[in-house]
Amino acid sequence: MSLAHRATILTPSLTLGIDSKAKAMKSEGIDVCSFAAGEPDFDTPEHIKAACLSALQSGFTKYTPSSGVPELRQAISDKFKADNGLDYKPSQIVVSNGAKHSCLNAILACVDIGDEVIIPAPYWLSYPEMVRLAGGEPVIVQTKEENGWKMTADEFQDAMTPRTKMVILNSPGNPTGAVYTKEELEAIGEVAMGEDILILSDEIYEKLVYDDTKHVSIASLSKELYDLTITVNGFSKSYAMTGWRLGYLGAPEPIVKAVDAIQSHSTSGCTSFAQKGALAALKGDQSPVEDMRQEFDIRRQYMASRLAGIPKISVVMPQGAFYVLANISGFGLNSTNFADRLLSKHHVAIVPGVAFGDDRTVRFSYATSLDIIKKGLDRFEEFCKSL
Ligand code: PMP
Repeated sequence: MSLAHRATILTPSLTLGIDSKAKAMKSEGIDVCSFAAGEPDFDTPEHIKAACLSALQSGFTKYTPSSGVPELRQAISDKFKADNGLDYKPSQIVVSNGAKHSCLNAILACVDIGDEVIIPAPYWLSYPEMVRLAGGEPVIVQTKEENGWKMTADEFQDAMTPRTKMVILNSPGNPTGAVYTKEELEAIGEVAMGEDILILSDEIYEKLVYDDTKHVSIASLSKELYDLTITVNGFSKSYAMTGWRLGYLGAPEPIVKAVDAIQSHSTSGCTSFAQKGALAALKGDQSPVEDMRQEFDIRRQYMASRLAGIPKISVVMPQGAFYVLANISGFGLNSTNFADRLLSKHHVAIVPGVAFGDDRTVRFSYATSLDIIKKGLDRFEEFCKSL
């Protein structure tokens, strides 16, 4: 039996793999401290669950329009305006099964066979695979730790070729926690505008920014950038709704039409009653989002400062999301060896940076309780001393 070429070039998600290995060890009774998760440890706020339940009970169980229920698209349009200064009409919005699905739809709609897509590394591991699925070629730009793991406009310009079609930006970023400033986005935007390069801006961690850091949507910076940008966001991280599978994008009409066509022939509209929960998330009390952000911030400070204090490790203080990326190259091990040894001998799960295109690093998620963070970092320190 031979598989399609597109299936053979994909690698299974390493983050999900490590997480399930840690879960399997836990189910054998091993006390594993897992920093591998990419999801909030909080439960979905009650009023969101209640709205979903009530929709289910009142029989809101039929197909919905493939791009999403009209009230939800209106609420997303309002949210884009209020939070991001972006004018996307409801007709310019498609609700999909998670921000991951929105990214894939956008790439399928825009990237042709042989097109190049620029991706700054360390990157969220699905981007290159999605580009390959579409028949495109990921062009990886290695960012520098001293630049806070952010791609500069010059690095972007240098990676450009006549085949460049798109650049993928992810701010706040996974796995780096880096947040691009307005000025940095303006400089990158200048380069994109000069060559008419599409920008896929994945803003899923928008609500999780710390200190006086501000999230800026690149599409809000000028009409030209708005016309080149697809803005992706979702409910998973801000509202602790990872399992609901709901995300969305806003984009210029031709792109949205193409995305809707792809979605209407693949997954159709998202789960009807889940969309009612999402509507409550946007329209209801926003204080749970801030409560979660504050809790993440306490953990961020604790984790980053402890890691920074360990000899041979360097970290850039993350300004967003819920990850700390640590440079472990001082130990002379590659990231997979490092993470495997740590998990098997000290029962701490982290994700090797090779998954994100940087073998010198490992990713710690602080989407877990402070108690587990303390215990896990004690073990981690022991491990580092033993190397
Ligand atoms: N983008 C980034 C950068 C992510 O880290 C994730 C989740 N790990 C996603 C998108 C996917 O989000 P969702 O659960 O909404 O599909």
